[in-house]
Amino acid sequence: MSEVTTVPTHCPYCALQCGMSLRPTGVPELPAEVVERTDFPVNRGALCGKGRTAPAVLSSRVRLTEPLVRCPDTGALRPASWEEALAAVADGLRRTRDGHGPDAVGVFGGGGLTNEKAYALGKFARLVLATSQIDYNGRFCMSSAAAAHQRAFGLDRGLPFPLEDIPRTGCVILVGSNLAETMPPALRYLTELKENGGRLIVVDPRRTRTAEQADLHLAPRPGTDLALALGMLHQVVAEGRVDEEFVAERTTGWEAARAGAMAHWPEHVERITGVPVPLLRDAVRMFCEAENGMVLTARGPEQQSKGTDTVGAWINLCLATGRAGRPLSGYGCLTGQGNGQGGREHGQKADQLPGYRKLDDPAARAHVAGVWGVAPETLPGPGRSAYELLDALGGEVRALLLMGSNPVVSAPRAAHVEERIRSLDFLAVADVVLSETAALADVVLPVTQWAEETGTMTNLEGRVLLRRRALTPPPGVRTDLEVLHGLAALLGWEKGFPAEPEEVFEELRRASAGGPADYSGIDYGRIEREQGVFWPCPGPDHAGTPRLFLDRFATADGRARFVPVVHRAAAEETDADYPVVLTTGRVVSQYQSGAQTRRVDELNAAAPGPFVELHPRLAERLGVAEGEPVAVVSRRGRAVAPARITTGIRPDTVLMPFHWYGEGRANTLVNPALDPVSRMPEFKVCAVRLERG
Ligand code: SF4
Repeated sequence: MSEVTTVPTHCPYCALQCGMSLRPTGVPELPAEVVERTDFPVNRGALCGKGRTAPAVLSSRVRLTEPLVRCPDTGALRPASWEEALAAVADGLRRTRDGHGPDAVGVFGGGGLTNEKAYALGKFARLVLATSQIDYNGRFCMSSAAAAHQRAFGLDRGLPFPLEDIPRTGCVILVGSNLAETMPPALRYLTELKENGGRLIVVDPRRTRTAEQADLHLAPRPGTDLALALGMLHQVVAEGRVDEEFVAERTTGWEAARAGAMAHWPEHVERITGVPVPLLRDAVRMFCEAENGMVLTARGPEQQSKGTDTVGAWINLCLATGRAGRPLSGYGCLTGQGNGQGGREHGQKADQLPGYRKLDDPAARAHVAGVWGVAPETLPGPGRSAYELLDALGGEVRALLLMGSNPVVSAPRAAHVEERIRSLDFLAVADVVLSETAALADVVLPVTQWAEETGTMTNLEGRVLLRRRALTPPPGVRTDLEVLHGLAALLGWEKGFPAEPEEVFEELRRASAGGPADYSGIDYGRIEREQGVFWPCPGPDHAGTPRLFLDRFATADGRARFVPVVHRAAAEETDADYPVVLTTGRVVSQYQSGAQTRRVDELNAAAPGPFVELHPRLAERLGVAEGEPVAVVSRRGRAVAPARITTGIRPDTVLMPFHWYGEGRANTLVNPALDPVSRMPEFKVCAVRLERG
């Protein structure tokens, strides 16, 4: 009997990038089995239901296995050859560029694309299409944390320390993160923290399954956690708990930040947030009396029109208490999408070049242009951010190439975005299934999935990982890299767009060399030998950098920067017409827009559709019982879903998960007000009214 081999790889979904092994079965209905991989340190074999069932998407009956082209006569999509489909895409993009200029062509990427794909897509946009109009859905994920990180520390890496440090710190403040639903295997880091005697404070408007683990749960009104952080900093100062030595030696800007915080008396903060003063004081004591501590944020504070300042306020709290740039202390962001970290480092973001270089920095342009073999002045400048790009579709941007994203479900003000997409002259989408966005395309290109291709991902710790191809893809699909290779050739670039991932990675290493996210010392073999390598890794002899900022921060003077921030209201406050706050969120059995997970029977059975979570008092006022339809109406639209009644949510707030299309599409309600620094839309707060559905 021949030995069945397994291939070590990683889950296709979230930023934890859990390790797993795949064993090919040879059975078409389920071509691979997931095998536990206990040697990978991040998850030690544990997986959530999404990871465990991921192979089901490989053989989904709705998987695309041939290109589709829209028939001008019938308006329907019909099967086509790859030659015809690629020629149609090249023609659609070329016609728009020739007729309206390069910036009339847009490119939209995704935080699930491998580093190689993100790199190749950015290069394709800027060289082949010569357009500045490229951004990606990661803008909707953690861009506020990235901006605040850059501003305070001079460098953005989601977690500046490995996850293994979390159980060994003294106190964690977890802000706006529901790990129990978003990445369950990571919950063990908090469990171990408590087993080791550490304390856990959770800040969340809902009593989530994560909040239930907390020693202290603070439930501020959505959109007010900036005030809460300021109130805590006020209390730190009032109780004489500032780490004066750390502040003097390793930071700048303290006086202005201190003055701002002193205007936020805890009693005043209680009126804004609803968090009682005694709880705020308890939180300060718990955090400051521990030997060391961390603040970890996720989408709650980040997806706000003041997300950068909100995260900045939590960073200021870390700096004032000396909880940054030291072992077992610091601020970190729990990135969401699989390659949310790497996806923003290699050039698919509107303002960035590979290596996390700034597009408007002449030295960065010269370096990358040198690697690409072009003159720096030929590179376009920064373009529109994700929502601004989507909002410009059908206007200044008339054709779009989209990879790895489903904005018809995942974008804010989703029905409006759908309308903009429908008004395009030309849309091409590369995807594995006919997502709601792909269904609107003129050309759909069926591409390989995670288990059928090789490429690197960078997880939320900044650990660069390798996914090896474990299965032969079905005939009729191509990799995204092959798509870009083919399109580049049709558009006059015979060279420069290799289809082999390792060749792309070799170029990415050179393009990133010397930049903030330096991958030059990382190669595929090393990643496999070392269970991932932490960037920056500036040479083959460099060990990689699991812990950042221990000696100095990445600013010009090596000091972290306090940035003074002030509380302000959400862009849309409640009023008599819209008296309730809507916040959007996630459930454990679905992932992002649901394009993949809604195709898995087991996950659908566990989470079949959207719901409106509301407090019994609100339900009673409305006259709805558990499971009865509730209509949620905002200034942008209406969504209807069954009531889920719980005392675990504030009586002034409702929650809707955003994974679905149809009448329960939550993102259609969302206010696209943007953070002025990160351009993050305000997914977490808008004003709504409720009606019986
Ligand atoms: Fe996959 Fe994230 Fe679940 Fe791990 S936690 S199995 S990476 S979805």
